[in-house]
Amino acid sequence: MKQDKKVYNNLLDLIGDTPLVKLNKITSNIEGDFFAKIESFNPGQSSKDRIALYIIEQAEKKGILKPGDTIIETTSGNTGFSIAMVSIIKGYECVLAVSSKSSPDKIDMLKTMGAKVYVCPAHVSADDPRSYYEVAKRLHQERKGSVYINQYFNELNIDAHYHSTGPEIWNQTNGEITHLVACSGTGGTISGTAKYLKEQNPKIKVIGIDAYGSVIKKYHETKEFDEKEIYPYRIEGLGKNLIPAATNFDVIDEFVKVTDEDSAHTAREIAKTEGMFVGYTSGAVIQGIKQLGEAGEFKKGDKVVVIFPDHGSRYMSKVYSDKWMNDQGFFDSVHEESTEKVQY
Ligand code: PMP
Repeated sequence: MKQDKKVYNNLLDLIGDTPLVKLNKITSNIEGDFFAKIESFNPGQSSKDRIALYIIEQAEKKGILKPGDTIIETTSGNTGFSIAMVSIIKGYECVLAVSSKSSPDKIDMLKTMGAKVYVCPAHVSADDPRSYYEVAKRLHQERKGSVYINQYFNELNIDAHYHSTGPEIWNQTNGEITHLVACSGTGGTISGTAKYLKEQNPKIKVIGIDAYGSVIKKYHETKEFDEKEIYPYRIEGLGKNLIPAATNFDVIDEFVKVTDEDSAHTAREIAKTEGMFVGYTSGAVIQGIKQLGEAGEFKKGDKVVVIFPDHGSRYMSKVYSDKWMNDQGFFDSVHEESTEKVQY
């Protein structure tokens, strides 16, 4: 936990206590006040620092880990980076089994952070021994004293946010928060934060943002797993093709779905209006706010907190690349390319 001092023992002291910043322009035509919890202020530049530190420290408390032991996970995304960072500082080996679809940049970044990366074929089914799930499971069984973070199925993911993000938001808003709106991937962030906030005030409305192509919203409404909802989409970290045990559906009031294209434009708009350089899912959450605003969800005096999970620098070859936007067909007559053509 961050303390009010000038020198810190290591980066782990800087995890959490991220700022809550008022949005002054992008939501100005919607009733209510909007505040963003900017998780890129964590030292690993995302909310995943919280779960990496919390889950590893819980294992330490239970006596599972000793110096030199191994932390295992199946992600090349933010969680992988955070686990690598915490592992380096605490003296553990970090092993990440990732899909061959992961970008070389991401794999290089994780290796730079000291992680041992197993690149597993993307085209095999989840129960194939070569899949990243199975490789991670096997390594976990083989290595005594190892911890498998397993973020989608680990309820400590919820607890991490229950003990940190929730109380922070409650204190930062002096208990005046009326709505929490957050993306749901593993569901850990929204579930843990919502559980804490609703214990303080059950009237707080909690809205999850889901992707078109994900089963989460439909499952929340019907409690049925509808395979027809599943198709490929581009936003990373949001939505899922399975039901994560790290999502507590009981504390979420409703879900809103957003498109890849709208979220991409909105992410760019956040940078241009607020000067906040944040990730693709931050675009998704504000896109959700716009849709909710149009549907009349918010009224004057509401205090709405949104979570911006990570930093824009991780998306330079995607949502912040004009070429990528163009290749996706996201630039059209309405959304002009952002580069000025210079006349010589
Ligand atoms: N945004 C990004 C960029 C993420 O990496 C994640 C985590 N998968 C989320 C949002 C959603 O957070 P959670 O997994 O806690 O639901």
